[in-house]
Amino acid sequence: MSFNIEAIATVQAEFKQKFGIARQPGLVPAAKIKIVLDQKFSQDAVRGLAEFDYIWVHFVFHDAIAEGWSELVRPPRLGGKTKKGIFATRTPHRPNHLGLSLLKLEEIQLDKPITLICSGADLLDGTPVIDIKPYIPFVEAKADAKSGFVDGAPPVLQVTWSTEALQQLQVSDLNQELVEQTIAQDPRPAYQNIPDRIYYMNISAYEVQFKIVDDLAEIVFLIKQ
Ligand code: SAM
Repeated sequence: MSFNIEAIATVQAEFKQKFGIARQPGLVPAAKIKIVLDQKFSQDAVRGLAEFDYIWVHFVFHDAIAEGWSELVRPPRLGGKTKKGIFATRTPHRPNHLGLSLLKLEEIQLDKPITLICSGADLLDGTPVIDIKPYIPFVEAKADAKSGFVDGAPPVLQVTWSTEALQQLQVSDLNQELVEQTIAQDPRPAYQNIPDRIYYMNISAYEVQFKIVDDLAEIVFLIKQ
C-alpha cells in the first residue's frame, strides 16, 4: 500500500542546518520553535489543544531523504561503534523518513496562520509536520519501561565562554541559554574526540565557534552571518 500525505504545518526554528540540533526533544528546553499550520486550518482545528502541556509532533525528516537509509545504524549514543537495527533506533535515515517528537506546548497563536509555540525541540527549520496529537500521560507515560541501550539522559558538558565570545554575545541578539544548552549536549559526531579542534555551528543568524576538551566546552568566537 502506498499513501499520499500532505504536510499540515511547517516548522520555523533557529537551526537552519542539522549539526547541533538536540538528538531528542526536551534535552534543550531553550530550543523554541514555531509550528505554523497551513492556511486551510481554522481555530476549530486546535479547539481544546491548549488544555494539554505536551503534544506529539509527527513530521518528515525531509533533509535526510536524499541520504537514504539502511537496516543497520550506529547510534551516536553507543559511540558510533555498535550497530543496531533501524527499528531499534530513532535515526532520521528510515524507510519512510518519519519522525516523532514530544514537545512542550507553550502557546497557541490563534490569528491566521495558526501557530503553535513549542519548546525543547529537536527539529530543523523547514521541517514538514504531518500530524499533531495531544500527549496523554496516563496512557503514554511508562515510568518502569525498559529502554534498551538508551539508559537515561546523556551526560552534559560544562560550557564556558572566552572573553572575546562573551563580549560578542553581549552585543548580539543570540539566545545565550540556547547556545549553552545546545553545546552542553556535545554535538560532535560520536566518533570524534579531537581536543582543541574548533567546531562551527550555526544558530539563527550566528556562527558559533567552540572547542571541547574532556567534559569542558569553550565557546571561542561568534560571527554574525
Ligand atoms: N525525536 C525524533 C524522533 O525520534 O523521531 C527525532 C530524533 S532524531 C535522532 C533528531 C535529529 O534529527 C536531530 O538531531 C537532527 O539532526 C535531525 N533532524 C531534525 N529535523 C530534521 C529534518 N527535518 N530532516 C532531517 N534531519 C532532521
